[in-house]
Amino acid sequence: MTVTQTARPAFDPAAADDVDSDLYLLDDLLDDETRALQARVRDFVDHDLLPVINGYWERAEFPAELVPKLAALNITGGTISGHGCPGLSRLATAVTAAELARGDGSLYTFFGVHSGLAMGSIDMLGSEEQKQRWLPAMAKLEKIGAFALTEPDHGSDSVSLETTARRDGDEYVLNGRKRWIGNSSFADVVIIFARDEADGAVKGFVMEKEADGSRPDGFSAEVITGKMGKRAVLQPDIVIEDLRIPAGNRLENSNSFKDVNTVLTSTRGGVAWEALGHARAAYEIAVAYAKQRTQFGAPIAGFQLVQNKLANMLAQLTAIKLTCFRLNDLAEQGRLTSPMASMAKMFAARQGRWICSEARDIMGGNGLLLENHVARHLTDMEVVYTYEGTDSMQSLILGRHITGLSAFA
Ligand SMILES: Cc1cc2nc3c(=O)[nH]c(=O)nc-3n(C[C@H](O)[C@H](O)[C@H](O)COP(=O)(O)OP(=O)(O)OC[C@H]3O[C@@H](n4cnc5c(N)ncnc54)[C@H](O)[C@@H]3O)c2cc1C
Repeated sequence: MTVTQTARPAFDPAAADDVDSDLYLLDDLLDDETRALQARVRDFVDHDLLPVINGYWERAEFPAELVPKLAALNITGGTISGHGCPGLSRLATAVTAAELARGDGSLYTFFGVHSGLAMGSIDMLGSEEQKQRWLPAMAKLEKIGAFALTEPDHGSDSVSLETTARRDGDEYVLNGRKRWIGNSSFADVVIIFARDEADGAVKGFVMEKEADGSRPDGFSAEVITGKMGKRAVLQPDIVIEDLRIPAGNRLENSNSFKDVNTVLTSTRGGVAWEALGHARAAYEIAVAYAKQRTQFGAPIAGFQLVQNKLANMLAQLTAIKLTCFRLNDLAEQGRLTSPMASMAKMFAARQGRWICSEARDIMGGNGLLLENHVARHLTDMEVVYTYEGTDSMQSLILGRHITGLSAFA
């Protein structure tokens, strides 16, 4: 007897490389330098990241082997100039972030926490001396950063955080709990936001490893296990007990929660670009799959219902991309406001999550397999929908802007 069926249909997600998702030719807006940088990051994604990431994801391990290769791209620190940072344009920074997310959300988040949140806090809230102290090694990824804002009892309302800082001579003594703090199990530099007992204001304090590489007494991190998305980046719970931080490690220009918000507004736009990267990957893989997969004697791409899905996915993907480019222009002109950033994050995360879900559906059972990448993008989008302010929090910020009424409580 001759068996003609193969046990496993052959689909290579690399076939997505031939799919064009840029119907409005927005990539024409990139200059040659940005295009070249984007190509370098894409090469890293295709040749170094994608071949190994699913194994790390499944084992819930961080792919430390990729860090030197990521460092070699010379994109860490993004728009920050001086202090060994690359001083990229906003567009180049955003486009490279989207390209990383097109590959994988875990590595993107590792990078976003380090380069955007931790280095960004030092750049925006630190003194010149503090920038010079920490940024050069961080730009080379020789020192890794973390950003500790969220607490077990304060996520969306992190403005009410309870971690305290008490001045004692030349030091501050910190006490409290933090939760979901990416990179903090191995980070060299952890920005801890705490309430100064002297004036009740939230300020940033930089915890550094000791000279011998150990953690100072009073800081312990335990990785949260069993996560369904972004499994290859680690987020610990942190316990802070009488942690002593030199007074010189208080970020000199962080004087209130408003200053934390300045950092978050700048990184929120980056999360919209991240959603774009995930959505683009899922859309392109779904198109390639639909052209190849045959049912009822014809490629499923030829069925009206499938085409309708793909058409709506491309329309939403294009809307996300237009939003991202406009957001970038506004930031470039110094006109970016918190509601603008919130609308971009809300829209991109919501629609990006939907695009990934539709792509998963178009691929049937094969959409559930890690080897086809879409399942990973879909679960990563669940995290994007929640972190850096949930979908509902962004809509409340926008709602307050529209109505002038706060509906947070
Ligand atoms: C993978 C991952 C990585 C993260 N990395 C970091 C990190 O590096 N550093 C860091 O500081 N934090 C980090 N976070 C924390 C993240 O920012 C929070 O999870 C997020 O802000 C939501 O907080 P929460 O999980 O406590 O949810 P909650 O605030 O408890 O929200 C639960 C639900 O209630 C809703 N809700 C809350 N308040 C209202 C309201 N007033 N009206 C209507 N609905 C409301 C929310 O929208 C949500 O749907 C990370 C989280 C994850 C999952």
